[in-house]
Amino acid sequence: MRDEILDLKDYKKIAVMGGTFDPIHYGHLVAAETVRHRLGIEKVLFVPTGRPPHKNNRNVEHDEHRYLMTVLATANNPYFNVSRIEIDRPGMTYTIDTIQSLKKICSDETEIFFITGADAINEIMTWKRVGELLRICNFVAVTRPGYDKDSLLRNMTGVENDYRINITFIEVPALAISSTDIRNRVIAEIPIKYLLPDEVEQYIIKFGLYKTAFENKPFFTFINQKLHTVLTPERFAHTQGVAYEAVNLAKVWGVSAEKAYIAGLLHDCAKDFDDKETLSLCYDYGVELDEIIKRQLYLAHSFLGAAVAEKEYLVTDSEILNAIKYHTTGRAEMSFLEKIIYIADMIEPNRPFYSGIDDIRKAAYEDIDKAVYLALKQTVDFNNGRNRIIHPLSVLAMNYYENHFIASK
Ligand code: NAP
Repeated sequence: MRDEILDLKDYKKIAVMGGTFDPIHYGHLVAAETVRHRLGIEKVLFVPTGRPPHKNNRNVEHDEHRYLMTVLATANNPYFNVSRIEIDRPGMTYTIDTIQSLKKICSDETEIFFITGADAINEIMTWKRVGELLRICNFVAVTRPGYDKDSLLRNMTGVENDYRINITFIEVPALAISSTDIRNRVIAEIPIKYLLPDEVEQYIIKFGLYKTAFENKPFFTFINQKLHTVLTPERFAHTQGVAYEAVNLAKVWGVSAEKAYIAGLLHDCAKDFDDKETLSLCYDYGVELDEIIKRQLYLAHSFLGAAVAEKEYLVTDSEILNAIKYHTTGRAEMSFLEKIIYIADMIEPNRPFYSGIDDIRKAAYEDIDKAVYLALKQTVDFNNGRNRIIHPLSVLAMNYYENHFIASK
């Protein structure tokens, strides 16, 4: 398909609207239109990202879908165009490469603005050749209402004052809409109408985006709808990632994919309760907490989660309930399903990168006991670093899997 970026020579002011657009929604469109109007931009070029360096593990919806949804959403605005420049460029996507390519096809006088979410700009210090980037284009950070822009500026230590003032902040109330929430709604079968253009909604339905075959069963819809109301959007997305990874692992290790899916979905069903709710529900559901858990109440969510899964989500299968119960501490001699959920939690596609994740991912599909050992070790080291007490179940599990893994060599 022809790229529309070729006709930029005549413009004095253009803006690049960079983002994943997975999917594009009215928040993005209103933001672009607001910036265009406010800064007198003649052309806004929407550039769906290719392979962002910070997200090489995420299950980003297929590039062509994101590109086509962006074309559909922008078609009726004469000031908007869409570019394939990042989708078609091989290798990692860096904004500096995009801006430099555009500079070559603009006139020398063309001023280039780069619009993106303030959350993305928060990490700008890690971007490739950030100093040069801030020199050759003007950054526009569009923010959701209530965004703490002062803290963002404080985070930008190391950037010269000259660069900092090169960032314009524009608050866009419509950005309360988010792509994460739209994807979560699709999974939970909650309407997305009026959050994005009709054409994009139809496209998502036609191609069944953001859903897997599993989610169509009424029982799974019930679970997803309930989780959507009790979990934060980020936790809901993590939950979907764990369920997805658990199903893949289940197929490799000969475990019921349905059980893996349910346990993955529900593993954190009690994690977004505050301390008071956690204690009161533990009391109501008869969940006994030992002294270590009482002192580190974040550990309670897996034990309470098993009770909530049983009482509120009507799960009766003890294998699933145990996989939920031990997904945080682990334990010696875990069942295959328990191991799968324990590992899926550590390696699901939405997990931010941490040192060692690639080894655990590889082992998960080749030698599951090795993966469990590596994951336990990672967790114990992480918690030791934070001066937390390691739960005895985790200590026993680590010793068990270390011996087991070494003995099998
Ligand atoms: P993202 O994951 O899509 O978005 C991060 C946050 O910003 C989300 O809250 C998102 O909301 C919001 N957002 C993203 N694009 C937006 C836009 N144009 N207008 C308003 N809100 C937006 O974004 P990302 O992958 O971090 O990347 C954003 C841009 O920065 C891309 O163009 C990317 O290539 C660039 N980037 C470059 C580098 C580099 O050069 N090293 C590194 C990171 C990012 P929604 O989820 O609702 O969209």
